[in-house]
Amino acid sequence: MERRIFLAGLGLVTAGTVVGTGVGTLTEPAMASESPTARTARPGGHTTAFQATVSFRTSPSDKLVALTIDDGPTPEWTPQVLAVLRRHQALATFFVVGKRAAASPAVVALAAAAGHEIGNHTWGHSDLTRHDETYVRDSLERTHATISKLTGQPPVLCRPPYGRIDSVGLGVCASLGYDVALWSDHLTGSNAKGDVDITLREASPGSIVLAHDGGSEPNATLMAQLDRLVGSMTDSGYTFTTVSRLLAAPAR
Ligand SMILES: [Zn+2]
Repeated sequence: MERRIFLAGLGLVTAGTVVGTGVGTLTEPAMASESPTARTARPGGHTTAFQATVSFRTSPSDKLVALTIDDGPTPEWTPQVLAVLRRHQALATFFVVGKRAAASPAVVALAAAAGHEIGNHTWGHSDLTRHDETYVRDSLERTHATISKLTGQPPVLCRPPYGRIDSVGLGVCASLGYDVALWSDHLTGSNAKGDVDITLREASPGSIVLAHDGGSEPNATLMAQLDRLVGSMTDSGYTFTTVSRLLAAPAR
């Protein structure tokens, strides 16, 4: 299912089928009425690079991992995540929803002041593949401006909601100078203990772990399990860093 969402998000959807995966047809409505190039973005300039890398994980030489916290900020959960990170001297990347950042500005400033990275998770958590370029640009640029104002630091990373992005979203990201960060491991709210067990078993240097401080996923168990994950991996010699630093770290 996750793979199918990723593939759909990466634009490998054509007339309701997923190419080359053998997972069957999508249950979502197909964009069959569009021509093959209807959603092909075209860069504005022709003399400069126009690119955005998409990373699920990296392969650094040092024992680095990145924890990413999506869908906040929320007054209830973000401070709890910040406390976990502080306890273990860990850094994380918060992919904030712009309108929630605007509603809880203090906690965003607090996270940035503690050294955490703030990334762009769109203004209203919309699926970028279901909107035109004007909408996508407005959503990302409003969030960009909000984060820049609250932290003094323009964001350099986007995480598309649901991990779904196609040519239009990638084009807007490229124009903003963003790279796109997806993830390799996911701590859910419904199976946090099991997910931490799996992550502790399978994570390796370069893993990008996803958890949430907003939406329907965060709960007390997730916070406790997040603490267990960060504590256990730190004890095993891992350093939790920001996604930007992970991407910039020398490769193995
Ligand atoms: Zn999200």
